Amino acid sequence: MPTTYCCQDCSYQGHNFRQGRCPACGSANISRRNKSDTEKPRGPLSLIICIALWIILGATLIRRFF
Ligand SMILES: [Zn+2]
Repeated sequence: MPTTYCCQDCSYQGHNFRQGRCPACGSANISRRNKSDTEKPRGPLSLIICIALWIILGATLIRRFF
């Protein structure tokens, strides 16, 4: 199981952090994450928000044309 590392300073995520430092910002403030944490499927809430945003966008466009 590959381990994902996450930088606490710039939120960079990667599998290979050389010398325990973030390749993006050089910070040593790194947390280790399990695969099960990072590849969590999106809950239904994010899908509902996405649909709601499309409805708002559609309603805005309809109001402009009618
Ligand atoms: Zn970083």
